[in-house]
Parts: sequence; structure tokens; C-alpha cells
Amino acid sequence: MDKRTPRSWLNTLFLLGTLGMALVLVPWKLATQGLRWSEVAVFLVLYIATGLAITVGYHRLFSHRTYHAAWPMRLVLLLFGAAAFQNSAIAWSSDHRHHHRFVDDVEKDPYPVKRGFWYAHWLWVMEGGDRPLDGVADLEQDALIRWQHRYRFFIGAVVALLLPLTVGWATHNVGGQLIIGLLSRIVLTHHSTFLINSAAHWFGTQPYTDANSARDNALLAPLTFGEGYHNYHHMWQWDYRNGPRWYQFDPAKWIIAASSWMGLTWGLRRVPSTTIQRAKVAMEAKRLAGKLAEDAHHLRHALEAAHWRVDQALAALQTQLDAWHETRNAWKAKGHAKAEAWRAVRAEWRTQRSQLMADIQEARLEWNQARLRARQAMA
Ligand SMILES: [Zn+2]
Ligand SMILES: [Zn+2]
Repeated sequence: MDKRTPRSWLNTLFLLGTLGMALVLVPWKLATQGLRWSEVAVFLVLYIATGLAITVGYHRLFSHRTYHAAWPMRLVLLLFGAAAFQNSAIAWSSDHRHHHRFVDDVEKDPYPVKRGFWYAHWLWVMEGGDRPLDGVADLEQDALIRWQHRYRFFIGAVVALLLPLTVGWATHNVGGQLIIGLLSRIVLTHHSTFLINSAAHWFGTQPYTDANSARDNALLAPLTFGEGYHNYHHMWQWDYRNGPRWYQFDPAKWIIAASSWMGLTWGLRRVPSTTIQRAKVAMEAKRLAGKLAEDAHHLRHALEAAHWRVDQALAALQTQLDAWHETRNAWKAKGHAKAEAWRAVRAEWRTQRSQLMADIQEARLEWNQARLRARQAMA
């Protein structure tokens, strides 16, 4: 057993007890009573609400401060977050910030996958108990977060029970609701979150960095409302998105963005697309160069040259975009954004930009050819 902290019997009993009961009661219930639509509905409402509260709230808002949220939104996230039964927002964030800071360090990462799949999945919770809160002074300033920490078990129990009991009472089916809407919901919420600490550090691809064990795994995204792109997330934890491309399934990012149109969220932080592309190309160049045989000097050289060209072209675009934002803000601040002179400036920037985009296009072509030749040489 770990020397840092004693075993938490409360966590162990809760995790094993809920799982054990679900494994016995759910099949028994399905076999003897079948499944009702009202049970499926309550299950889905609470699974989605608590899962989103963990992803949108505990993870992207409280742990990583990737955006700001108005108090009604924070309150809702804290209420449903408590019903996920994953401790308070502040305790969760304390652990999670350590996980990012010391990822893969078997001593300091609270859930290092280096200690095994199941350790990262849930054995760490059983071992953990209440670890001291650390690095969360910013969260302690928020009265709502302090309130949730203080009454986390009570709030969690009320929110988790309210809907199953009400619907169960109205449909004369309290027992069925407690098995499907409460018990199996808690177990599935737990394990889908746990999969991000285990499976998303074990199975999948590493498109942006191989400096840590985190992986992109699109299969995990639906279960956790967008958290499957974990390699991206460990590279840029301050981005409110986990899947930056429009087609990547990340409902949390859509909700955070949609909430900003209503004024509920603001200050959404995102990584520039050029930065993402540079990391991706660099990773691919590194991987290909590593695989090329020692004697393939000319291919390595061509690969490095092409990589350098793409990287420079992307960097040039980013510099231009940064400068453009500054210029635009300056014109706006002066209230000249509608003047004729401004239109001329803007037109010139646009011409410059299309030139830079054309450079990138050309560099990418060169890069693709170098990449193809390297792959052929390996085949
Ligand atoms: Zn991680
Ligand atoms: Zn994170």
C-alpha cells in the first residue's frame, strides 16, 4: 500500500458496494421486471447532467480555468457535480492539477498510469482518502465552491435522489428507479470518468506530444462528453476544447461556446490553429525520422528541410495574425473602425494573409512529398 496516504475505507466501500449491488440488482431487475421508459429517461437525464458537470465544470472550468462562468452556471455545475460522487470540485481540482503537473510521476501524480491500468482507473481512489488540498487557493476564494465542498455529500445525495424518487413515487416504481436511475447511473458515471485516467493514458494515438502517456481516443469522447482527446488536452490544458476540430465529438466545448452567446460564459481560451499544426507536424517529423534507417541520410535531410519550411510558414502566419489583432484593436479603440482609411489597411492585411496561406500550401506540398518518400523507404 502507498506510503503517502492510508487506505480510504469509505471510498473503497462506496466504489465496490455500488458496483457489486449494480452487478446483482440490474440483471435481476431486468429479468424479473424488464425496463421502463421512465427509468431510461431518469437514467439519461442524470447521466448527462452529472457527466457534463464533471467535464464542463469540475474539469474545464474549476481545474483548468479555461473560461469564466456566471454564478448561476457555476451553481448548476456544482450541484450536479456533487451528484457524480467524485468528491468536491475543490478536492477534484487539487488532485487533477497535480496529475497535470506531475503526469506519469509515480510519487507525485495522484493517478499515474505507470502504476498500472487499474491503479490509474480506481485503485488510487480507494487508496486516497482525503489528500491535502494544494494549489487551489484561487478556488477557495469562491463562496459557492466553499459551500459545495462543505456540504458535498448532502448536496450530492439530494440531487442524485430527487428525480428518481419523485418519478418513482409518481409511477409507483421507487424500487426500479433506485436501481436504474440512481445505482447504475452512479456506477456508469464513475467508470466513464475513470476511463480518462486509465484508458486515455493507455490506448490511442499521440499526435501532438510523446512526452507523456496521454492519448487521443475518439471512442472515449461520447462517454465523457468530449474528454477522449487526452493527448491534446495534456499538451494544452488551458484550452476550453479537448477536440479542437469541428468534427471531433466534444459537446462540452459546444456547450461552453453556446453559453458564451448568452453571456453565461466569457474569456474562452483557445490554442491558435497554427500552434496546433506546428506541434502535429513536428511530432510526425520526429516519428518518421526516428524510424528511417541510419543510412537514409538524404531522406532524413529532405524530411528535416520540409518540416522546417512548414514550421516557418505556420509561424509567419501566426506572427501576422497576432500583429493583425493588435492593429485591429488599436483602430477599434480609436473608434476609426468604419473609416475609409481603415478599409484600405484591412484590404492590405488580407492580401498579405492570402500570400502567407499560399506559402503554407506550398510548404505542405513539399512536406507531404518528403513524408511519402520516407514512408516508401521504410516499406
Ligand atoms: Zn491525464
Ligand atoms: Zn485536465
